[in-house]
Amino acid sequence: MDTVREIILVKSGGEAAIPEWRRAFAEVVPNLDVRWWDDASVHPDAVRYVLVWQPEPGRIARYRSLRVIFSSGAGVDHITCDPDLPRYLPIVRMASDETIQTVCEYVCLGVLAIQRDLRRMIAAQAACLWEEFEPPRTAFQTRVGIMGLGNIGASSARMLHALGYQVAGWARSPKSLDGVRCFSGVTELDAFLTQTDILVGLLPDTVETRGLLDARRIAMLPRGAGVLNAGRGTLIVMPDLIAALDAGHLSSAFVDVFDPEPLPPDHPAWRHPRITVTSHVAAFASRPARARHVAAALAAYWRGDELPHRYQPERGY
Ligand code: NAP
Repeated sequence: MDTVREIILVKSGGEAAIPEWRRAFAEVVPNLDVRWWDDASVHPDAVRYVLVWQPEPGRIARYRSLRVIFSSGAGVDHITCDPDLPRYLPIVRMASDETIQTVCEYVCLGVLAIQRDLRRMIAAQAACLWEEFEPPRTAFQTRVGIMGLGNIGASSARMLHALGYQVAGWARSPKSLDGVRCFSGVTELDAFLTQTDILVGLLPDTVETRGLLDARRIAMLPRGAGVLNAGRGTLIVMPDLIAALDAGHLSSAFVDVFDPEPLPPDHPAWRHPRITVTSHVAAFASRPARARHVAAALAAYWRGDELPHRYQPERGY
């Protein structure tokens, strides 16, 4: 690394978060100069790195000496949607240990809620109704199928397996994971769906994943199946999901991500008795955890190694 402190502009959490970002980076990359996104004293040509959440379109193109873009979230769609984005710049996705852990926690929460019918328990309390009921099956008898076996999908598979579920997963490329039945590619998708009692979406938003879960594919899930989505909202054709719930083909859904977001106040999902709506809250990563992730990627970059968790435009994630 140059002896001069290199500048990273940060747009994540607002200007008020900058002191905390500075403290977090000082622990792991002390020679990085951490500046607020709108710091007028920074010359655009001095900017080497940016760490961003939803940068304004056209803004990144101003930094002609920029070397790496760090996404403050796991998805990069909030960056790549910029029509003026210089396409040669590497983008590193957020995959901090806390990001992965918290989404896995959410997945376990949702899968357990679907399997044990948490909505029914909450409805009974709301009605002051002492209602004793049994779940249709235990975790041992429940087949969870995870769409996406990347950083988060593979870790979720391990946690769900540890909880006693029968776990399968589906990805673009073939995988081998202990205790997980792995499927890959569109040719194996139907077989995967027909053997899934609780479907978990952990896919990125790409041309290939958009609208993948439509009426035809939902119908392939066994009757009474549940659906959880914590990847991207574009995966599911929501009117088809709601129709399958209303028809009794699906038992319930637990959904964190929507298209568009925020979910409009008049969207039927908000008030649907069998859908749990959460407001894209699955992931939470502290600033120190995100700074550690950026520091590890910078260390690789400075060594001349491949950037870890680099977005690959040709695959779309
Ligand atoms: P990742 O490591 O890039 O993994 C993506 C997985 O999806 C890979 O297993 C990949 O297959 C698979 N995949 C991609 N396109 C596919 C296709 N067309 N067909 C089948 N499989 C496909 O990503 P991650 O870190 O696990 O995160 C997954 C997604 O979760 C992110 O893209 C983000 O959108 C979302 N997310 C949401 C939240 C939240 O708060 N709700 C938080 C974090 C992340 P291969 O393994 O074969 O490449």
